Amino acid sequence: MQLKRQKFEINLNPIQRGGILTKEAREALIEFGDGYSVCDFCPGRLDLIEKPNIKNFIHEELPEFLGCDLVRATNGAREAMFAVMNSLKASRKEKKSIVLLDGNTHYSVYIAAERAGLDLDVVESSGYPEYKIDVKKFGEKIDSKKPLLVLLTYPDGNYGNFPDVKKLSKICKNKGVPLLLNCAYSIGRAEIKLNNLGVDFVVGSGQKSMAASGPIGVLGFNKEWENIILRKSKYYPKKEVEMLGCTSRGASMVTLIASFPKVKERIKNWGEEVEKARLFSKEMEKLGLKQLGEKPHNHDLLFLEAEFLYEISRKHKKRGFFLYHELKKRGIGGIKPGVTKNFKVSTYQLTRKEINKVVQTFREIIE
Ligand SMILES: *Cc1c(COP(=O)(O)O)cnc(C)c1O
Repeated sequence: MQLKRQKFEINLNPIQRGGILTKEAREALIEFGDGYSVCDFCPGRLDLIEKPNIKNFIHEELPEFLGCDLVRATNGAREAMFAVMNSLKASRKEKKSIVLLDGNTHYSVYIAAERAGLDLDVVESSGYPEYKIDVKKFGEKIDSKKPLLVLLTYPDGNYGNFPDVKKLSKICKNKGVPLLLNCAYSIGRAEIKLNNLGVDFVVGSGQKSMAASGPIGVLGFNKEWENIILRKSKYYPKKEVEMLGCTSRGASMVTLIASFPKVKERIKNWGEEVEKARLFSKEMEKLGLKQLGEKPHNHDLLFLEAEFLYEISRKHKKRGFFLYHELKKRGIGGIKPGVTKNFKVSTYQLTRKEINKVVQTFREIIE
C-alpha cells in the first residue's frame, strides 16, 4: 500500500508551519527511520547516548538554549506537562490537589491533569474579542485554592496571545507556588529563557515549533527540582521513573537534533515573523475579516472571524466547503474543509510574496 499525502504550495495550518522539517532533518529521518535506531551505543539511558550525540544535545545545548540547568526530551509537550504534574503529586502527601490554569489552555493540559488525578481551576480570559489573560487574577485564586502548580500558556493555541509571564512569576514566587510555562507555540520560534522569565518549568513541542517530525517535547527546569522530576527507579537505579526509563528513542529525536542549528538561527528572525503576521492581519481586515486576540498581534498564529464568508456559504452550492475548494484550486491549504465563519491561520516562515498571494486569493474569492 502506498500512503500519499496531499501537499499544498502554501500551507496555512498553524499546527504545521513550525514543524516543517529542515533538509538536514529530512535526511536524518531516513537514516534513523528504523525502530530503536539511536540505541546502538546505549550506556543505559537515552539521554546518555553519545553516538548519535544525544548526551551533548540534552545536557549542554538545550539547557543553554532554554536558559536553565536541566532538560529532558519527552514524547510531546503534553507528556512533559503530565510529567511535572505527576511528579509534584507524587512528592506531596495531600490526596486532593489542583492545578490552576489560564482560560486559554490547550485541551491536552486538562487531560494531563485528569490522568495525574488532579483537579483544576481556571482563571478566565477577558473573552471576545481579545481573550486576554490578566495575570493579576491568579493571586486571589492562589490564596484561596492553594494549587500544587500554576500553568500559563505562552502563547495559547487559539488566539496566539502572550500574557505577562514576568508579572505572574513574581506573584507565584511570592506565594511559593511553582509555575509551568507552556511554550509549545514559542520554543523554537522565539527566544525563551527560563531564568529570564523567572518560571520553574518550560515546555516545548518539537513538532509544533522546532522543525522535528516528533512526537517529541522538551522540558526544562533548574536543579532545585531534580530530585522530584528526575527521581530514580528503585529497581533500575539508572532509570528515571517519570521518563519511564527512556522517552523519545528514534527518528523523532534525531530530527530534533538535526534541525537544531537552523532553529537556533531562525529564532533571531522572530521580529520579522511578527511583522509579517501583523501585515497579513491588517490586509485581511481590509477585506472585511476580523482578527481576534491581542492587537497589535505578537505571534504568527491568527484567529480570523469572517461572518460574511459564512453568509456566502449558505447560498453556495458547495456550502461551507466552498472556501476550502476555492483556496485549494489556487494551491492554498491548511484551513479545515467546511469552515468559513472563523478559522486559524499562520504566516510563520511564509515569504512576503506568499503572504501577498494569500491575501490576493481571498480578495478574488470574496469579489
Ligand atoms: C500543540 C499544543 C500542545 C500539544 O503539544 P504536543 O507536543 O502535541 O503534546 C500543547 N499546548 C499548546 C498551547 C499547543 O499549541
